[in-house]
Amino acid sequence: MCQLPAHNRLPLCVGCRDELPPNTLACWRCALPLPASGLCPDCQRDPPAFDRVVAPWLYGEYLGYLIQRWKFAGEEDLTALLADLWLARATPDPGIDLLVPVPMHWRRRLARGYNQAELLAAQLAHALPGARLDSRRLARNRATPAQAAMDARARSRNLRGAFTARRPCDNLRIAVVDDVLTTGATAAEAARTLRAAGAAHVEIWCLARTPAPGG
Ligand SMILES: [Zn+2]
Ligand SMILES: [Zn+2]
Repeated sequence: MCQLPAHNRLPLCVGCRDELPPNTLACWRCALPLPASGLCPDCQRDPPAFDRVVAPWLYGEYLGYLIQRWKFAGEEDLTALLADLWLARATPDPGIDLLVPVPMHWRRRLARGYNQAELLAAQLAHALPGARLDSRRLARNRATPAQAAMDARARSRNLRGAFTARRPCDNLRIAVVDDVLTTGATAAEAARTLRAAGAAHVEIWCLARTPAPGG
């Protein structure tokens, strides 16, 4: 990020790494940044379909820059760095059986050439014994319209029925892998689909969490 040599196996120097804000005080369930640890009002009122979110970093300018380059500038080789950042701070459940990346619609995947969530999940599966990558477990039924301009309710309507479980998930403990969690609507819909297919436990693993709008 500082454009100087990293002197490091991975392309990020110690100084730049220290600039990344960790997500320390957050909702136990959805990892929303909070003034103190606990359950956020939304999770108290209406618990989401996932058991918890592991999101060790806050989405901000610097991590945003890395993620944009990774996703949209074709810099697939940033995957090792981002996986390393995740592993450095995350506390994954040791009993996870499957890592399931959030699938992209095939048309979008064709345009980008890769699904970044799948690259991250594959890298994490290497690092975590016992967790197997299954990129085909979830299918994306349709290309959902871009969600950036929608509020939480509109996003969740937009995503209803967006995924199908290709195989039963009886009693499996599954981590759904994505890059950034914003409203959690995509994660919740993926979790709802896997639970309906029999999963015993579904958590969401992502690099970073955005703060609540205006929060
Ligand atoms: Zn630097
Ligand atoms: Zn919450």
